[in-house]
Amino acid sequence: MRIRLDLHVHTTYSFDSTIEPAGLREICRKRGLDGVAVTDHDSLRGSLEFAAELPDLIIVPGSEIRSAEGEIIGLFLSEDVPPGLTAPETMRRIREQGGLVLMPHPFDIVKLRRMTSRRLEELRGEIDAIEALNGKPRWWLANRSAGRFAARFDLPVTAGSDAHKADHVGLLYTEMEEFADPTGFLASLRGASLHGGRYSPWASQLDRWKARLRK
Ligand SMILES: [Zn+2]
Repeated sequence: MRIRLDLHVHTTYSFDSTIEPAGLREICRKRGLDGVAVTDHDSLRGSLEFAAELPDLIIVPGSEIRSAEGEIIGLFLSEDVPPGLTAPETMRRIREQGGLVLMPHPFDIVKLRRMTSRRLEELRGEIDAIEALNGKPRWWLANRSAGRFAARFDLPVTAGSDAHKADHVGLLYTEMEEFADPTGFLASLRGASLHGGRYSPWASQLDRWKARLRK
């Protein structure tokens, strides 16, 4: 059976997101999603709590880790990977616990800390998938460049909203075959289709500023 997943969602366990379990359930129902990957900043806790609260949804446990070389998503994690490590060390720690390395918005050149194309190429053997459709890269050609990079190195691709509010969940999603484990997930990504498009390049920046003001 084909399922629809938004593979990049932040919850209230990210300082800049307002998504709670009830809101997530409602928007998934409304948009016809089977689930999401919860990828909070430097924390796995949100995905574990959301999985416990929402047994009717598929919740892929993950975290968007701020490595010293930019953000890296670990999927199917069972323990936190600390921020601030080098990219190869971050990837190693994701893989050693059986997780998958997903590169979020890799070509958003407006981001200050990110890997160059050359660096990604160097590390491509440690990368399981590329996010080729992100909801809000600030650089408008970022998704196209990510898709090209993935095609060049035959890496599977994903779509994720990078939502920080419930309204944005499911505006982008990955449609793929059901899977039982990380290996199955990767295999079914090979036959996945990506849907949606960039919705609001400055959304997360605004949310971040607002969160800072509230502090
Ligand atoms: Zn994110």
